[in-house]
Amino acid sequence: MATWASEGIILKRNNWGETDKTLTIFTRQRGKVRVLAKGVRRVHSRRAPNIELFNHSKLFFHESKETNILSEADTVTSFNNLKSDLNKISYAYRIAEVIDHFFPEATDSAGLFELILDCLETMDASGDSISIRLTSTAAELKLLAHAGFRPQLFVCSKCSRALIEQTHLLSPEHGGLIDRGCNGEMTLSKPVSVEAIKLLRFLMDSPWEEVVKLRVSESVSKEVDQALSFYLEYILEEKLRSTNFINKVESL
Ligand SMILES: [Zn+2]
Repeated sequence: MATWASEGIILKRNNWGETDKTLTIFTRQRGKVRVLAKGVRRVHSRRAPNIELFNHSKLFFHESKETNILSEADTVTSFNNLKSDLNKISYAYRIAEVIDHFFPEATDSAGLFELILDCLETMDASGDSISIRLTSTAAELKLLAHAGFRPQLFVCSKCSRALIEQTHLLSPEHGGLIDRGCNGEMTLSKPVSVEAIKLLRFLMDSPWEEVVKLRVSESVSKEVDQALSFYLEYILEEKLRSTNFINKVESL
């Protein structure tokens, strides 16, 4: 049996059999992988604390024809601030869900591992709910770009004319913003305000340290979050399960 090692971030965990779990992990070496972690639900499992959800860990695998089996795990970063804050957890779920939907196993992972790690580190260190929401939106925009769905936010996605400073429509069907003149009756779109358009443009290309320094209103941060969820759900052709969770946590 071949063995391999990689840093990885735990994105999803499911119980398997009596004492095992299957894990979805985003690894630095091989992108997303599904692995079997045997015996980790036993009370005294040595590996269990190192494969908690969202952990960044150093991982060792046995590889057979059918599956990868986790043999060892050591935590690099456990993101304890994130794990003790329901609001942060709900947005980390969103990021994990988007990654799981967009990127197949063994995809080219160049740059993606760092993106996910930077996003979790930023969320872990974030102090307020607006920063956490903006970090999530920035990550979603960057993930869309990685997956080949970078939204066009600077010119009309349909007629390519420059967008004047006013409310425009976000149209996943056309791949970004469209002006009102180009909005046919059949187009599924969502209006986005001038302030929200500027915020989306900023979040798409700014480094994390600038994202967390932003001071914007609660309402515009929610507007970009909702616009992007709408955009993602159209492309993924399904509802994001994390949205309900985020809404529930925010209503507490
Ligand atoms: Zn147009």
